[in-house]
Amino acid sequence: MARILVIEDDQRIRELVCQHLAGDGHTTTSESTGLDGLRAATADPPDVLILDLGLPDLEGLDLLKMVRSVTDVPVLVLTAREDELTILAAFEGGADDYVVKPVSGPQLSARVSALIRRGGADKADLLRVGGLEVRPGPREATLEGQVLDLTAKEFDVLAYLAARPGTVVRKEDLHAAVWKAPAGTEGRTIDVHLSTLRKKLGEKPDDEHRYLHTIIGAGVRLQAPED
Ligand code: CA
Repeated sequence: MARILVIEDDQRIRELVCQHLAGDGHTTTSESTGLDGLRAATADPPDVLILDLGLPDLEGLDLLKMVRSVTDVPVLVLTAREDELTILAAFEGGADDYVVKPVSGPQLSARVSALIRRGGADKADLLRVGGLEVRPGPREATLEGQVLDLTAKEFDVLAYLAARPGTVVRKEDLHAAVWKAPAGTEGRTIDVHLSTLRKKLGEKPDDEHRYLHTIIGAGVRLQAPED
């Protein structure tokens, strides 16, 4: 379970979010102003930061950049603002996820869990799935000892999937994580990259002995063939 800091000026929402996440077993703390939030995030970085953009003292996007300058903590922006420019600016500013209020409890739980997994996974030195090895630090991937010649985005896609072996990852989540772009803008980009990645892994879609599995309507899964 994780330590979560909630920066939100609306007392009712702050309490609801904290209570809900505490119910999931997380430890929550909260601040109601941007400055206090920044102080708390800096003094003792949480595992996940939930950030409201409409704060009384600081512009939320500015606060996000300040937080980013001191810590890599996964940030989930939870806000009433739903205009495209703000969403793009938030991802540009370093947000890991963006949710427009109101959000359901189960969805909040799921998004926070995903950020916790990602935060932990990114710290890993080596991700191993069967004969596939991915090293996020030097950005190197090998299959059965052979170095894979991947583009930057292909590597990011593979690393993201390798951090979640056996899990069906939604294409929009993969796109949001790798391209830092909001859901709904993924288009064919993901499919094109999965297709080139599959070729570089030496796989065909109908191969039984393969790592990459596309689940129609659900997403994509990386799994060791013998699993
Ligand atoms: Ca607010």
